[in-house]
Amino acid sequence: MAGYDVVVIGSGLGGLSAAVMLAKEGLRVLVVEQHRVVGGCLQSFRRGEYLLDTGIHYVGSLAEGRILNQYFRYLGVMDRLQLQRLDDAGYDHIHLHDGTTYRHAAGYENYVEELAAAFPQEREGLKAFCRQMKQVGDLIDPEVLRSGRLSAGGIEFMSLSVAEELERLISDERLRQVLAGSVPLYAGQRNRSSFYEHAMINHSNIEGAYSFVGGTQQLADLLADEIRRHGGEVRLSAEVTRIHLEGDRAEWLELNGEERIDTKWILSSIHPVRTFALLENNTVIKRAFFSRLNALENSYGLFTVYLLLKRGSVPYENSNHYYYNAEDVWSHRADYRGVNLPVVLFSMQPSASGYSDVATLLVPMLREDMTRWEASRVGRRGEEYEAFKAHFAERVIDFVAQYRPELKGQIAAMHTASPLTYRDYTATPDGSAYGIVKDYHNPIVNHLPARTRIQNLLLAGQNLNVHGALGVVVSSAVSCSELLGVEYLAKKIGDA
Ligand SMILES: Cc1cc2nc3c(=O)[nH]c(=O)nc-3n(C[C@H](O)[C@H](O)[C@H](O)COP(=O)(O)OP(=O)(O)OC[C@H]3O[C@@H](n4cnc5c(N)ncnc54)[C@H](O)[C@@H]3O)c2cc1C
Repeated sequence: MAGYDVVVIGSGLGGLSAAVMLAKEGLRVLVVEQHRVVGGCLQSFRRGEYLLDTGIHYVGSLAEGRILNQYFRYLGVMDRLQLQRLDDAGYDHIHLHDGTTYRHAAGYENYVEELAAAFPQEREGLKAFCRQMKQVGDLIDPEVLRSGRLSAGGIEFMSLSVAEELERLISDERLRQVLAGSVPLYAGQRNRSSFYEHAMINHSNIEGAYSFVGGTQQLADLLADEIRRHGGEVRLSAEVTRIHLEGDRAEWLELNGEERIDTKWILSSIHPVRTFALLENNTVIKRAFFSRLNALENSYGLFTVYLLLKRGSVPYENSNHYYYNAEDVWSHRADYRGVNLPVVLFSMQPSASGYSDVATLLVPMLREDMTRWEASRVGRRGEEYEAFKAHFAERVIDFVAQYRPELKGQIAAMHTASPLTYRDYTATPDGSAYGIVKDYHNPIVNHLPARTRIQNLLLAGQNLNVHGALGVVVSSAVSCSELLGVEYLAKKIGDA
């Protein structure tokens, strides 16, 4: 008899949330995580007395009655999370290259009024753009769950260009830039990004954006506790090295090149390219499928500069700032004294004291910027790499200091992470921040389904539908519904 009902590969938010759903509904679940710490992009790590978050800085839809709140309630963690609601008057401040600044305010009415004050002639266009964003967000509303569905569709929005919708509804080019001002949240590309992706992410933040007080690791730890509380197991330092197939079924998987685990089902939350590369004795999936999968582009990575601030010297600021160096917010390239620096996302980690100890500066980084060190592993990339990181970080700080001249005097220490750091810690190809690029030209190809040609192998995680905290939790539900039934699971979540 199989040892487990389901083995979940990966303990990021995707894997953990799927495992809670399955364990809660009575299945014997094992989560296997290659790293020695649970959480994937939810991990926080220490540098001296400072606690730094890796891959989640703010999250939407956590207000009472909103969709991620509803999921977290069902997952049993909502009431124990330490959260800080970002400033409703402007959770995001967009600083365009021409020196102007605009705010994204929470609540659709405020969002429209805030921008209509600066662009009064665009009020009707703004309202229409917002109505359409809300229509997309409502596709996964708690009411939809209670009706027995996880989503009310949306393919028509997946095949719609967000840049073209902006051109259709908004006449002023500057306002279009402002509305797209948080594109680094999805590595937006003018000629490829869909209205669906833009709307899911922006709608969620307009409903109220939150950050985690005391680190995102708390969410990973709470979810792992829930898995154990429902009889499941979480094993760390347990890398899946093979999935053995017999015909169209996975028979067992191998951990760390030596241990065999029997299971009825496998739910893999890691990148699909990595999942399919683990298959052994494959006679079912054709070479053409692998070629198509490998040809899918991954999003850019993010270079992170952590500023460890002098204690008690910098009041916490309850908003994020997007500082643009590029004239076009959609650009991935712009020069800042010899380095490619199109935009910096500045965000502070909240703390209970009212002061912030850590400011995080995120910058898009393309794969070709890193090719020289691709063959190296974390901690062993050599002096040239360390010098590159230090130089790049200095430029990022110089650029941000144009807006915040006081900043340099408040830095006690600095830490950096490149896309290669993420690649080595989470096994994400190329160190991509958000996984497979979703292209509105061909949504059927780049929105992978949870089911695979292997009958008992399911996919989850950020590469399926929309990435980010909300996206991966919804994808987990879609994947788990293959085992639990859509109507049953949707209603359980919706009624929690
Ligand atoms: C710098 C950065 C900032 C971001 N900021 C935000 C934000 O502010 N808000 C937001 O909503 N989203 C943000 N995101 C995106 C978000 O973090 C991700 O979309 C989401 O956390 C991905 O979750 P996941 O479970 O799919 O993958 P991951 O968190 O990457 O988890 C995958 C896990 O699988 C493990 N694994 C891989 N291979 C194996 C194997 N063979 N065997 C066992 N285990 C394995 C990895 O170690 C990892 O723990 C950010 C991402 C980055 C990189």
